[in-house]
Amino acid sequence: MKVVSFSSAASKLPDDVLAALRDDIGEWRSSGVSALELPFTGKEFADIAASAEHDLRALLDLPESYRVLFLQGGASAQFSLLPMNLLGDKNNCDYVQSGYWSRRAFEAASPYCNPRVIALGSESALPEPSTWDRSPNAAYCHYTTNETVDGLQFQSYPEDVAAPLVADMTADFLTRPIPVERFGLIYASAQKNLGAAGLTIVIVRQELLDRARSGTPAPFDYARQDKSNSRVNTPPTFAVLVAGRMLAWLREHGGLAAAAARNKVKSAKLYAAIDESGGFYSCRASPRHRSSISICFRLPDPALDLTFAEEAQATGLCHLRGHPEVGGLRASLYNAVAEDAVDALVSFMSDFKRRRG
Ligand SMILES: *Cc1c(COP(=O)(O)O)cnc(C)c1O
Repeated sequence: MKVVSFSSAASKLPDDVLAALRDDIGEWRSSGVSALELPFTGKEFADIAASAEHDLRALLDLPESYRVLFLQGGASAQFSLLPMNLLGDKNNCDYVQSGYWSRRAFEAASPYCNPRVIALGSESALPEPSTWDRSPNAAYCHYTTNETVDGLQFQSYPEDVAAPLVADMTADFLTRPIPVERFGLIYASAQKNLGAAGLTIVIVRQELLDRARSGTPAPFDYARQDKSNSRVNTPPTFAVLVAGRMLAWLREHGGLAAAAARNKVKSAKLYAAIDESGGFYSCRASPRHRSSISICFRLPDPALDLTFAEEAQATGLCHLRGHPEVGGLRASLYNAVAEDAVDALVSFMSDFKRRRG
């Protein structure tokens, strides 16, 4: 039985990337040691990190004025590190609240400043950037590009935000082209689209560095990490290697425009299966905000959702239960989830409907 994971919490990895990683673990390039044994202070790891950054810069066409940091702590640590690093002498910042993750980001900022909610979404729709009530002098403006729990995704990027725009892109990072120049800071933990847990990538405009409040722990001080090449302390070396392999894979497979096209095809197949089920499967997200990464749907009653998830798991279609906060079902179609995995899910959905509909 072929097993495919639609987990929201951990990245799928392409078969050829996994095979390369098996070799790396056996021995890193005739170094005599495993990639897991490489010291972060050595030349080998310096090369691994440099090549990951090189591929990331190439994929995003990243201007020199942006710094790339390889940090730990996940997106959740960034929720607090953003105000610690970016407020400077200001006390106000703007937050768009559009779902579960942006709420968590807002709550984490509250002990450090007066974050203001400048737009509110609903369970089925996102607040369009044109409706955001932006403060003219906020230290920054934070939003979440893809609400993983709610299945909502901003289809376009905001323009002309007065304050530096900060985005949690954890769920849809590198799944489509990004107009980086519009952003002051972008962050994403790697375990969704880019490999193994343990690494968080922060891309920050140089001019926003050097304003951390005193007492910010050194590993979490953007400017100090930038000065020491993300090596204030031991970085997550193996997660950086895995991300590097995924970045190279993305480049080999046509870059971000091609990734976006693949993700559109995959998600369109799944939404069609939902929309054409005569109401047996339904999706709360309004069509214009439907995510192409986090596809949330449900059956007419929660007990049937559970049966669906259990039977799917038994046929090798794994981790389809929705986030406990909202229930229902969820298929995460991160970069490395292949189209044939989606075909298998669509065919299971049609079979399940025939038996239970
Ligand atoms: C998964 C997720 C997070 C949480 O990431 P951690 O690395 O577990 O802290 C934050 N934001 C979004 C949008 C996510 O999808």
